[in-house]
Amino acid sequence: MFLRKLVSVIGREKGFHSTKALLEAAIIDGNNIAKQIEKEVRTSVESWIKSGKRRPKLVAIIVGDDPASKVYVSRKVKVAKAVGIDAETITFDKSISQKHLLKAIENLNKDTSVDGILVQLPIPKSINEREICEAVTPAKDVDGFHSENMGKLSVDNDSIVPATALGVIELIQRTKVDTFGKNAVVIGRSKHVGLPIALLLHSDSKGVSGALDMTTTICHRHTPPEELKKFTRLADVVVAAAGVPGLVKKDMVKPGACVIDVGITRVDTESGQKLLGDVDYESVKEIAGHITPVPGGVGPMTVVMLMKNTLKAARKNQS
Ligand code: ADP
Repeated sequence: MFLRKLVSVIGREKGFHSTKALLEAAIIDGNNIAKQIEKEVRTSVESWIKSGKRRPKLVAIIVGDDPASKVYVSRKVKVAKAVGIDAETITFDKSISQKHLLKAIENLNKDTSVDGILVQLPIPKSINEREICEAVTPAKDVDGFHSENMGKLSVDNDSIVPATALGVIELIQRTKVDTFGKNAVVIGRSKHVGLPIALLLHSDSKGVSGALDMTTTICHRHTPPEELKKFTRLADVVVAAAGVPGLVKKDMVKPGACVIDVGITRVDTESGQKLLGDVDYESVKEIAGHITPVPGGVGPMTVVMLMKNTLKAARKNQS
């Protein structure tokens, strides 16, 4: 009671309209942080070119006509151009055979004008996703999905790290959240998202990946809801990557925790399509210390970290 009153007085002095506003989480502005990193990457690309090297080039492959994939890839191409990276999109019909797709990737692997290759997921079920990820040569694998890159990440060797995981860590670091020896929970164990995030949260900050030294728990679809809540309530950082809208509720979050929402689910509403995160944003922001919105949190970070990866690949390929 006394604390609320004190907070209310301080809040009025600081110009907050209500105690509630003062107590709410600080919003982590992914758009803004991504813009800052975009500038940093543009400067690095310019000095790379000034040193006499070829402009980095990224090639994105889309298979089929998934509208979300088209939106994501066009965003990637736009940001690539903004930072001075050449970008090209190759679109294949959904009926393409695995053999033909593998051949196209092989040609790009051999093409010395190409530094980065990504195959936008999901791809049609008729094609084996893992075999496609394995076909991209590790040095050009800017998504970091090849087992060589994933393996190197897990033993903390230099590798190309999946962009969403890099984006999540960058958001936490730039927000200056205290992480050393603290507790983290990752909700979701997918090989491309949840797993690399967990690897970066728990690894050694003195290691190659510059990780966060957190005590890290991975929860997944077989974690019973009551158990999930037990773990998240202990967490100083919660990263939600389950693709289940509104999964993380206020009563699951420790006061002051940093909540990063990786989930993006498209839903149709009367006023058009809407993007929903895994976090019940309106209620969780009343208890969290920091929170990312959806959209405008992790999404823009993923795109800009992909550009960082493309420059890294160019450095590997053109050395
Ligand atoms: P992404 O590629 O975004 O990580 P996936 O659909 O591949 O998405 O993976 C979703 C992950 O979320 C899986 O690891 C799954 O076990 C986890 N998951 C799904 N539902 C729940 C849930 N209710 N509670 C905890 N984890 C969940």
